[in-house]
Amino acid sequence: MTRNDQLAGQAGAQSFHDCQERTVSEPLFKGAHQALTYAFNYSAGALDRPAMVKMADRTPRTGRGLAGVDGAAQAGFILRELQALSPLHQRILEARFMPQTTPCPCCRSSVWDQDWFAAVRAVSEGVMLSGIFSGQIVHRAVRDGIVARYFAEKGNRSRVLLKDLALHAGVSERTVTDQNGKITIWLRGARVVRKGAGVVEDGKKGEEARAMELIESVLRGAGIVGENEAAA
Ligand SMILES: [Zn+2]
Repeated sequence: MTRNDQLAGQAGAQSFHDCQERTVSEPLFKGAHQALTYAFNYSAGALDRPAMVKMADRTPRTGRGLAGVDGAAQAGFILRELQALSPLHQRILEARFMPQTTPCPCCRSSVWDQDWFAAVRAVSEGVMLSGIFSGQIVHRAVRDGIVARYFAEKGNRSRVLLKDLALHAGVSERTVTDQNGKITIWLRGARVVRKGAGVVEDGKKGEEARAMELIESVLRGAGIVGENEAAA
């Protein structure tokens, strides 16, 4: 958000020229997943040099690449394209791709990254606006926790346990499990929804899948993502 704006700003200031050149060069990323992983890690300073070089291996041998200033500009371009999406979809992609933890300034222990958690909270607000809980009261800390758990990387999932959320909010574990199921389906979608014996309904597309499809098409349109036409 602020960080992204800064980066997008830097990239913009730095270059109309880069932009012109970029549109005539080959796409740099195979897909939106790779492009977003690159951009969000770069903007957080979390990408080490070997990782950058590895991600840049599709760059054609034109002397241009993702190292140094060009890398920052590229990350800025990608993050700027996100603005074509709705705020909810932007926050979903931030929650999925931003680094999740950071060393605590006081004790260096690993804590949730504030920017990441802000994205999680915004998605949690989106859950309430979506209407999936119409008329039902959902404790804010519970839904924030459920959304954090949904996006948490494997190693971070144990930081949010449904039974702890229930305990802190003073609601039953069963209630939290039920709310977790609804939120997860809203975000992840469901292949098939079974209703009663033998009746199968079509699956529902999740909001995360919608966000990925949209950004994939936006990045493809911008020439950032696509097939690499074999550079001889
Ligand atoms: Zn601390």
